[in-house]
Amino acid sequence: MPDATAHRLQLDGLDAGYDGVPVVRGLTLHVQPGEVVALLGPNGAGKTTTLNTVAGLQAPVDGAIHVDGEPIAGRPAHKLARAGVALVPEGRSLFFNLTVREHLKLAEGREPLAKQDLMDLLPELEKCLDRKAGVLSGGEQQMLAVGRALVSRPRLLLVDEMSLGLAPVIVERLLPILRRVASDLGAGVLFVEQHVASALKVADRAYVLNHGRLVLEGTAQELRDRPDLLKSSYLGEVAVA
Ligand code: ATP
Repeated sequence: MPDATAHRLQLDGLDAGYDGVPVVRGLTLHVQPGEVVALLGPNGAGKTTTLNTVAGLQAPVDGAIHVDGEPIAGRPAHKLARAGVALVPEGRSLFFNLTVREHLKLAEGREPLAKQDLMDLLPELEKCLDRKAGVLSGGEQQMLAVGRALVSRPRLLLVDEMSLGLAPVIVERLLPILRRVASDLGAGVLFVEQHVASALKVADRAYVLNHGRLVLEGTAQELRDRPDLLKSSYLGEVAVA
């Protein structure tokens, strides 16, 4: 039973990595229901490792992960997906021979999002329903990857580099969808993004990782107002939080 007083996602002292060796150390962060939170940082900072660990694709090395107050660290991805934790992975992971409709059908849970609600969020998908994923544009593929994650009505949506390989104009169209997912569905959204300025336009708050450590956190407004701090955090010049 979800704990109504808890954060949607809470990480406490999370160590995450590979073969028991952490590349992310002591990460503490939270996301509230209806909140959009960006996870920023330079290449190799540990952003994907963090998302994959929350989604259950890899076991944490140490620390606690709670969703609505429930401890979930170490639970496998398929169980977390059923419990409302959805990941849009880097690279989208689509089946190029399946149509958009087939992708959405496969992702349906017990109480799928009504088709109309999905099409309100992602209207561009409607005209593509019977096309195979392999013939869609990059932006349409990314919309499908997001749509597939939304049909199961996630409580927590994790999105890894939605803008990868896409033109800036498409990125400007895609990122605001995350804001609507949070406000219309009440989901907590944690997203990784390389385009910092675009990310801070849609996020409520952001965390910056560098070399696996949290080096900066604040509201999107605070970070937009302090580009000097943001730049230093990317260069590794900000004291470890
Ligand atoms: P990017 O923005 O480049 O995607 P990131 O912030 O998402 O980077 P991660 O992909 O989480 O960073 O990588 C963090 C560290 O973990 C890097 O040093 C990377 O080389 C290492 N790493 C990633 N995947 C593995 C793996 N399968 N085995 C061992 N080390 C890995």
